[in-house]
Parts: sequence; structure tokens; C-alpha cells
Amino acid sequence: MLLRHTPKEISERGALTINPAKTCQPIGAMYAALGIHGCLPHSHGSQGCCAYHRSTLTRHYKEPISASTSSFTEGSSVFGGQANLLQAIENIFAVYEPEVVAVHTTCLSETIGDDLTQIVDKADKGGKIPKGRKVIFANTPSYVGSHVTGFSNMVKGMAMLAEHTGKRNGKVNIIPGWVEPADMEEIKRLCALIGVEIIMFPDTSGVLNGPLSGEFKMFPEGGTTMDDLRAAGDSMGTLALGEWCSADAARFLDTNCKVPCRVLEMPFGLKATDRFVDALRIIAGAGVPEEINHERGQLVDMISDMHQYFYHRSVALAGDPDQLIALTEFLVSIDMWPRHLVTGTPGRAFEEKIRELTTGLPYEVNVKSGAAADMFLLHQWIKNDPVDLLIGNTYLKYIARDEDIPLVRWGFPILDRVGHQYFPTVGYKGGLRLLEKILNVILDRKDRDDPEQTFELVM
Ligand code: SF4
Repeated sequence: MLLRHTPKEISERGALTINPAKTCQPIGAMYAALGIHGCLPHSHGSQGCCAYHRSTLTRHYKEPISASTSSFTEGSSVFGGQANLLQAIENIFAVYEPEVVAVHTTCLSETIGDDLTQIVDKADKGGKIPKGRKVIFANTPSYVGSHVTGFSNMVKGMAMLAEHTGKRNGKVNIIPGWVEPADMEEIKRLCALIGVEIIMFPDTSGVLNGPLSGEFKMFPEGGTTMDDLRAAGDSMGTLALGEWCSADAARFLDTNCKVPCRVLEMPFGLKATDRFVDALRIIAGAGVPEEINHERGQLVDMISDMHQYFYHRSVALAGDPDQLIALTEFLVSIDMWPRHLVTGTPGRAFEEKIRELTTGLPYEVNVKSGAAADMFLLHQWIKNDPVDLLIGNTYLKYIARDEDIPLVRWGFPILDRVGHQYFPTVGYKGGLRLLEKILNVILDRKDRDDPEQTFELVM
């Protein structure tokens, strides 16, 4: 009973977050940067921040995460980190030879007020950035927003590399948002099947789910190339998946490069995947290939075969807004009951969207976003109104254990399981995987709790 002190009575907390449902901005910026081919993420702050960001990503992806740091000391904390960053940029290009260095700030460098635009410009003018190489950057103060905000800020930094020549290249930009490398692979597969040529950024497939080859490569094969990022300014359009993760970059391309954008929900579940596939089909001016129809049919089949196990099961969810919105729609569509939802990422629009998706359910859903929407509050809601299932990241395991509720690990971070890097949950095939995960915990629990007279192979 690790959380045995969580009281059932809920009281207003003005300035206290307990077990946040988020991590810090630079983690998102670092994850996004790893989706550029030949990119070394750089943390402009103290070594401790960088170590934390790297270790969180390493624990989630089970891969070594390379990143450098400005290594602030007391001196840089007082006088600013410009000298450290200039030296770092010079050293990084000399020693590791990346194609891109993606700098993100930390709480400390933001509080000091280091001006990345000016410092990177000074590095460029001072000849510290070799010809043909780039330094991109994002401001990621962690006392606002979350890892999702940091991810979005860095993706917008990537969009700034796009060049608009006025000659369309016939491709479509896909900004997939914070999904797993396997999800990015699956999105690329769907696009290829429908016949849409795409530029995806960021793209961590092949970077964070690559094979063990026995040969060390400082920069893995995967990632969006610099050429593709430049060409994104000449694409026919952009499909941004997720308002929180991807919309800012897409709108930047729209405004600055005249690349029209459309923001869709992440393609988790049946309806959101339908909308994604439909958007691709319209772009391609073609029908949906039989292979995709087949996969959709399999997902519908599983939903209908197993409906009795999903029916009116109540769920508590913690995670990131774009993912939770798509998942909520999916759960409602299979007659499950999302009951309590928290996301540490701010944005009132999230709460409104969840309420809209759950209109028609026979209760008012508990939903909260931002710093006060923490795991502690979620636990209190559950104590007052118990649920059948939890879906969310690793940190929900404490509530799962204390309240004896089955848990489906999904989202970020997942520190104590594997598989998320390799098996997608987007698309129809991903929907099957998601349902399989949900069903497995429901049926395992049933097998554990059923009395002997009903403990049978009845399915
Ligand atoms: S100090 Fe800020 S940037 Fe550094 S690890 Fe903590 S929250 Fe993240």
C-alpha cells in the first residue's frame, strides 16, 4: 500500500502537485530531435537535467540516448550560458560530426534569460557551425507546459528549416506527433499502401527501435533527413496528427511556406483511423486498398466478437492530450466508459473535447488538465468512484496495486515493460493490438476472480 495515505476527501490545492501526470519539457524536445537523421540533441543547462532527460528516454526505449549538455556551473548560472553553448557547438561538430545539433533550453537557462537566437547566430557568424550543418533550437522552460509542449516546440524548430522555392514536390508532410517509433513505421506503411508520397518529421523509427547489429553507430540509419526537412516547404500540404504535438509546426509551414495544413486526431482506434485513411485517400485521389479494408474488417470483427467484455467497463486514464482524446473516442465507440481522465499538459480545450466525446454517457466524466491534474487527484477520484480498468503510463502501477485494478500500460513513459517500441497501436492493426492488451488484462482478472463454477473455457 505505497499510496495508503491518499485520502478519499478531495480538497482544493492551489500550489501543490503530487505525482504529476507529465514529465519535463526538454524530454519532449530531446525525443523529437532524435527523429532527425544525424542529429545530436543538446541540453542547454546543467548536467543533471541532461542526465535525467537521457535516462528517462533510455528507460522507455531501452536504447542508449546520445545527447550533449552545456554543463552549467555556478559561473554560468550567474553570468549566463553563452560561452558554454558557443564552446559546446564548436566541440560537438569537431568531435561527433552531426548533421544537425538540436538545442533546447532548461529551467535554469530560461530563468537566466539566455537568448538562443542570438547565441546561435553568433556561433554561425563566428564560423563554429560547419558549412552544410545546422543548429536548430527550441525554448523549453519546464515550469510551463510539459514534455508534450517541449516536443511541439522542437518540431516547430524543425519546420523552420523548410525552404519554399515555389515549386511543389508532390509530397505531403506528415507530422505524426509524439507516438512510438513503431507507430511512425505504421503510419508510413499506410501512406505507402494508399500511394501517398510523404515527408514525415520527426521520425524516430529506425533510431529508437533499431536492431542490435554488433556495430556501434553514433547516428543510426533512421530519422528525417535534412534534405526532406528543407523540401517540406514545397509540399502540397501537411497532415498534422494531434493539436498539442503537431499543430504549431503545421501552422508555421502554412503561414511561412504556403503549405496548407489540416489537423487531425492521432489515428488511434477505429474512427480516428478512418478519418486519417480518408484524408490520405482524398489526397491520393484513389480508393482505399483492399489490404487496409481487410485490416479494418479484422478490427471491427474483434470489437464485435469481444463486445461483452468491453461493455460498460469503466476506465480511468492518465496521459497526454492528443493520445487521450483519440483513445477516449475509441473506448466510447466500443461501449466502454471513460470515467476519470487527467493530463499534466495544460489546455482547457482538452477538457472540453473530452466532455464532448463523452456526451451521452449516463454520468459526468471527471476530467482535468494542467499542473493540478495529477495522479494524486486521479487516485482520489477512483477512491470515490471505483473503475474496472486503468490505462496510462508506468506510474499508474502504484494506484493499480493499491486499489487492485488491472492496468494497461500505454503512453509515456513505460519504464517497466517492453514492446511499445516494436508494436504499433495506431491504425487498424494498432487498434487490434490495443484491444488485445485491454482484453488480456480484463480476462486475466476474470480468471483470477471467477468462482470455480464459472472458471471455464467459455469464450
Ligand atoms: S530543472 Fe527543469 S529542465 Fe531540468 S530536469 Fe528539472 S524540470 Fe527538467
